[in-house]
Amino acid sequence: MARMDRTGVARSLEQIASYLDFKGENPFRVRAFTAAARSILGFPGDLEVAIADGSLAQVKGIGPAILQIVKELVTTGRAGILEQLRDDVPAGLVDMLGIPGLGVAKIRQIQETLGIETLPDLEAAARDGRLAALPRFGTRTAEKILKGIAFLRQASQWRLSHHAAQEAESFREAFARLPHVLSAHTAGEVRRRCEVVQELVTVLVADVPPETVFRQLSTLPGVGEIAGEDERRATLRFAGGGSVQVIVTPPQNFGAVLVQATGSEAHLAALAAHAAAKGFNLAGAALWDASRFVATPTEADLYQTLGLPWIPPELRERGDEIARPVPALVELPDLRGFLHCHTSASDGSNSVAQIAQACHAAGYQYAGITDHSRAAAYAGGLSVDAIRRQWDEIDAVNAKLSGFRVLKGIESDILVNGALDYPDDVLAGFDFIIGSIHSRFNLTRDEMTDRVCRAMDSPFLTIVGHPTGRLLLSRDAYPIDLSRVLAKASETGVAIEINADPHRLDLDWRMLAEARQHGVMISIGADAHNIAGLANVDFGVGIARKGGLGPDDVLNCRDAAGFLAFARARR
Ligand SMILES: [Zn+2]
Ligand SMILES: [Zn+2]
Repeated sequence: MARMDRTGVARSLEQIASYLDFKGENPFRVRAFTAAARSILGFPGDLEVAIADGSLAQVKGIGPAILQIVKELVTTGRAGILEQLRDDVPAGLVDMLGIPGLGVAKIRQIQETLGIETLPDLEAAARDGRLAALPRFGTRTAEKILKGIAFLRQASQWRLSHHAAQEAESFREAFARLPHVLSAHTAGEVRRRCEVVQELVTVLVADVPPETVFRQLSTLPGVGEIAGEDERRATLRFAGGGSVQVIVTPPQNFGAVLVQATGSEAHLAALAAHAAAKGFNLAGAALWDASRFVATPTEADLYQTLGLPWIPPELRERGDEIARPVPALVELPDLRGFLHCHTSASDGSNSVAQIAQACHAAGYQYAGITDHSRAAAYAGGLSVDAIRRQWDEIDAVNAKLSGFRVLKGIESDILVNGALDYPDDVLAGFDFIIGSIHSRFNLTRDEMTDRVCRAMDSPFLTIVGHPTGRLLLSRDAYPIDLSRVLAKASETGVAIEINADPHRLDLDWRMLAEARQHGVMISIGADAHNIAGLANVDFGVGIARKGGLGPDDVLNCRDAAGFLAFARARR
């Protein structure tokens, strides 16, 4: 099994580039590593396979030296060059790169003029005005840096859902192979499919006492410390950072233990109150009828004994889910259309044909291509000529495909006055249009809401993309009145996106009940920039499920004709 996945390899290559940059290395060498990181992220195949069969060596940007480093990362999880560089460059400087808006040049300026090499020193300088006084800085930059430091701190405890899910799965696989472990299950926030995750929790069903399992766990490679919480729970800390809580249970009590390990606290409190009202006692991660232990080999047994249907983990958040009927939630195979996808025509890395092929193979019936519009020049936004070339490209791809269709779309910037980014005669040529905000985040809440509502007045708009602009753990949402946006969407027949990029997951699931009340259609958009981005969709489905959505609430669960009818109904 690979020791490091695609994202990890790309991140390591990017780190090497930053370190080299700090050391004042040849800019071409620095750029070679950044380019390689991008190629790895966009590489459609399996890395391990591509190394073995030599095809990775053929990829643009992967020369022999970098290939060697990629091999090392994939097989061992580390790279000698990176470890050497870590010794050479103060770690605090590299941490500073995680602060939005702070690049190598500025960090070097701070180091050289103020002698600052750590985050606490940087924070002090941002507070006492030294930073603001530097040339090209000013108070606004200093304030931004303070905010960035706060985000970094938060991010060190929290991780994004896709990283957490991967980490949890690799632990689960390793634990499941231990002797006397009958099965291993991921619980906690990952199982509830939360958008950010603080703690990883795994439940192990074993036919031996917990201490025997803990002894085995402590011998696993990489385990630095094992701290017992009580006789059946322990936290494993790994030498390379990272930790996981492990709970061991015998089979007959697995249901109650898994429910407790999955949470949330509000759900468990509501469940305990419900159990008490029925004459049961849900205590110490077991169910009791007076003083008699009730076996719960599965979660369904537990809920059923309490007179409840099994509640999907995604819904176990606020506690009120216990009092409501359980809705039929949308599942990944319900999605027929793959939406929100960038190609190499703007800032993506695959062609229309490559995306169509990958989506077809993944079981979709249609894909909606949405490159950036011309105002997004930084992201290679398309000129009117480039759009016409892409339409020809799509027509050619469609002519060769049967049982699959590529739709002509665009992710149009919503300009500051609320207009879409092309004249109406160009807009009319698209099958559908996503409108998104990518600039001028500094409007007031009313101005921002008006801007989005004005865009919804255009008969060509189909979907509002990533409606709050948030980047999880790194950038707050811009101020916007979502209730007003949802009311307007309902009135105008525009859909609202759940952007499934795990950095965004925007619209937030907490707003979905209100969207549903308004009858607003939700579209799940991958915001893919390469074929690997197909994997985003599942995170969007998780958010839709957390919000209680079924297939009828999701626009791209419709077939291509139904989807196009929705778009056309507004024109
Ligand atoms: Zn966007
Ligand atoms: Zn996008």
